[in-house]
Amino acid sequence: MLAIGVDVGGTSIKSALIEIGDAKVAESYKIIKFHSLPTQARDGRDSIVSNIIKAIEVFDWEACDMIAVASAGTIEWNSGDVIYATDSLPGFTGLKLSKTLSERFGKRVVAINDAVGALVGEGFLGVGKNAESAMMFTLGTGLGASFLKSKNLDAASIIDTKLGHYKLYEGGRECACGDKGCAERYVSATALKKYGNDNLYQLFNANDVTQKNVLNNFYKDFTRVILRAVELYSPGLIIVGGGVIEMSKYWWQSFLKEYKSKCTTPISCASLGNKAGVLGAVYAMANGVFENQ
Ligand SMILES: [Zn+2]
Repeated sequence: MLAIGVDVGGTSIKSALIEIGDAKVAESYKIIKFHSLPTQARDGRDSIVSNIIKAIEVFDWEACDMIAVASAGTIEWNSGDVIYATDSLPGFTGLKLSKTLSERFGKRVVAINDAVGALVGEGFLGVGKNAESAMMFTLGTGLGASFLKSKNLDAASIIDTKLGHYKLYEGGRECACGDKGCAERYVSATALKKYGNDNLYQLFNANDVTQKNVLNNFYKDFTRVILRAVELYSPGLIIVGGGVIEMSKYWWQSFLKEYKSKCTTPISCASLGNKAGVLGAVYAMANGVFENQ
């Protein structure tokens, strides 16, 4: 079987041509080609949609058995409609994403939220493939936290925990959600840049006390968020992904020292990098998750 997976973010649209042997077997998913182009989100909805189409057309789509899209925004599970999208994808709210693409290509297309796509990718094909359940944190602009409750792979088995807005500090830093002291104001790439160093590489390699303190607080704060996740959901595995993980060799071991002194739940860096979304979307479709789309 041949599939095309697409991952639509605010900055880039990634697409992959994926060969599948047995849909249920993780080892049989093979990325044959991978492509990335700018989303050009500022040009609005029509321009984004035409870039998604371009990202699919770079491959021989007519020869493909399925097309699956993971996209930023809240995507309705049964319809593939975008219920809500932030300014990162202007005009996307209300778009019938899977229907629009199905009509364009004359074949079935499914759509899924990008964080869900990454969670499914890591949970079934990446570091979580042997875990019974997994909580994935995404350290990026904000702090994503989605929970794969079981390997049933239906709407009920995937939970957006919203732990990024878990109150870490009463009366703390102001958050875009209107509240104060939310976890993502302390545990995210944005927070590390704002309070540590705009250049994360310099921050992770800094010798000065102020920046070292920022890092130590980050390790402690992140551990507290994970402890809360463990208390609420008891995940079998913690997976940490997002842009900050690309620099894991500079900070992961220091973080683990703090983490392991407080928590015994197994933890691992995400392993699929920027390919988790395309793989997760295709895995979900190949396993018949979206029979209503
Ligand atoms: Zn918040």
